[in-house]
Amino acid sequence: MSRPAGPPRTGAPRTGTGFGAPRPGAPVGNRPPARGGGGPRGSQRKVTRRRRRSVEELEPTQMTTWQPSTAPVPEGEIIIERGSTAKDVGPKLNRSAADLIRFLFLQGEIVSAVQALSDDMIELYAAEVGASVRLVDPGEEQEAALLARFFDEDELDAEIPASPRPPVVTVMGHVDHGKTKLLDRIRNANVVAGEAGGITQHIGAYTVDWNGHVIAFIDTPGHEAFTAMRARGAEVTDIVILVVAADDGVMPQTIEAIDHARVAQVPIIVAINKIDKADANPDRVLQQLSERGLVPERWGGDTITVEISALQGLGIDELLEQVVLVAEVAELEARAEGRAVGVVLEANLEVGRGPVATVMVQKGRLEVGDPVVAGAGWGRVKALVNDRGQQVKWAGPSTPVQVLGFSEPPLAGDEVRATDDLSQARELGEARAQRVRLVGYQPIAAGSGTRLEDLFEQIQRGETATLNIVLKADVQGSLEACTESLRKLERDEVRLVIVHRGVGGITENDVQLARASGATIIGFNVRPDRRSRELAESESVSIRTYEVIYKLIEELEAAMLGLLTPVYEEVVTGEAEVREIFRVPRVGAIAGCFVRSGVITRGSRVRFLREGVIIWKGTVSSLRRFKDDAREVAAGYECGVGLSDYQDLKEGDIIETFEEREIPRSA
Ligand code: GDP
Repeated sequence: MSRPAGPPRTGAPRTGTGFGAPRPGAPVGNRPPARGGGGPRGSQRKVTRRRRRSVEELEPTQMTTWQPSTAPVPEGEIIIERGSTAKDVGPKLNRSAADLIRFLFLQGEIVSAVQALSDDMIELYAAEVGASVRLVDPGEEQEAALLARFFDEDELDAEIPASPRPPVVTVMGHVDHGKTKLLDRIRNANVVAGEAGGITQHIGAYTVDWNGHVIAFIDTPGHEAFTAMRARGAEVTDIVILVVAADDGVMPQTIEAIDHARVAQVPIIVAINKIDKADANPDRVLQQLSERGLVPERWGGDTITVEISALQGLGIDELLEQVVLVAEVAELEARAEGRAVGVVLEANLEVGRGPVATVMVQKGRLEVGDPVVAGAGWGRVKALVNDRGQQVKWAGPSTPVQVLGFSEPPLAGDEVRATDDLSQARELGEARAQRVRLVGYQPIAAGSGTRLEDLFEQIQRGETATLNIVLKADVQGSLEACTESLRKLERDEVRLVIVHRGVGGITENDVQLARASGATIIGFNVRPDRRSRELAESESVSIRTYEVIYKLIEELEAAMLGLLTPVYEEVVTGEAEVREIFRVPRVGAIAGCFVRSGVITRGSRVRFLREGVIIWKGTVSSLRRFKDDAREVAAGYECGVGLSDYQDLKEGDIIETFEEREIPRSA
């Protein structure tokens, strides 16, 4: 820092007041003169002081310019970032900040020119001046403007008529009910003998040709993936196959899947699986489904149900037939020519191939050589690979393809768009990358998070806890699904901040980051290597790994419930009266008791009471009925209680056992 020389700036005499007092030990005569460079110490302090004043405070605000209320507002949709200030918003609507502030003031809202406005405030003012605004997330403004400029979908859709397209199906259901088996069964049945060695490539989705009907399946089963896609605005599924095991019935994830499909307004076809099993009970499943509002056709409802065995290949044709029927009713259409639009199902970085994204084309025709953009990734399509591992020249609606050529892997759920030229793709991709840098990686103050283990304590102090998480997963799809699920766990007392998330194993970097931000590391299908585990141990960073999303959610939820202000109440479980004390060699004292109420259980917590006063607290170390060890002794019986720690019981003392029970939180 360069030391200022010469006269202090304006205002120095005033701000200098109070700083001129002689420092201890400094000769009074040494006081710096008010002007001139003779007082380095004094003026340095002043400058530091002034630097600390906020920039906003010093900035001139033009409060006094007004626009006539009849001034025209810009036409068309005006894009405004959420959290903009009056100074930003005013000029965009051809008004001054002062106009906006005055308007809000009259509505009873007092804001300054540099204060972030709420969505409501911006919308209210836009309505007042008759402007049409669209609010976007911070950093998204440039991107939204580019999208509007590059893609006029309506025009293209009007030009090229839509034609029928195959349905896209997602298989959902409770864990272990046979989703994977069913997907495998359908895929394998479709492999044409001899073709590409009969091996289908796992690319996250595949199509089958069933009796001349093409059907696309998304190969990442589970409603988490489905929800994650939808959360990102990707409505990619036309039909949901809900798998319910006939031997297990409707389970929590079955219900969740039903709910998600309903919200998305996607038709459900129920596949009652595992009918080969001896304990299969399809009728019970139908009954349970009816209770959830899915009344089967044969009971007069409109829910299609098909009994299958994914293991033995029974009922698969009937199931596919129903899919085709439902698709026909839905009259699915898309334009098959022109600039392609699609959704990223999965993406990762592959050795030797670079960023690879599995894309479900939704409309148009994606061709090799097309400039494309998805998320922050952009480039020219280098190659398209279909679900059989074959290179193809193009892909049309409802076709999943692997796309090679992106500058970086996009995220699952990102929209993919072919652009007219490469510069558009680049501009859009870079605008997004910029936003990710701005918004996605805001540094978190070191140690600001509460660790999972400390949550409870913090909440007990009545504070809102912030649970910082470093999330690592095996593939992009599961990363999205985990993120989505974690978000749902948030509640008033616990805020969840994902400090960092990424695909790949848990590294030393992750541990460092977790330590710096007080985060818990969550790994999904990934594990820490030895070095990061050791680092985590030495830095006391906790790492939790899971292999099933359901388990992750269940455990965190349980942990949070347990941690969220648990209310304990003490429940007395048994009461016994001391009748006699026996001294047993090598064992010590044994209290011969009579159980007055409840049960006395070995290992339970006890307190000894003498005339209502607690004289000792501990645990029942041994419990006997006559000569035999007993686990518990009920009211009305006599027993011997071992007193290893406490020897001074007397006749007439009371032994009370108790436990603490958590009172469940009301939701
Ligand atoms: P997911 O978790 O829903 O994907 O379930 P999986 O497809 O992994 O199946 C879970 C278990 O159920 C596996 O051991 C399968 O072999 C078994 N399974 C799946 N379908 C059937 C079936 O139709 N009959 C029987 N008996 N077992 C099945």
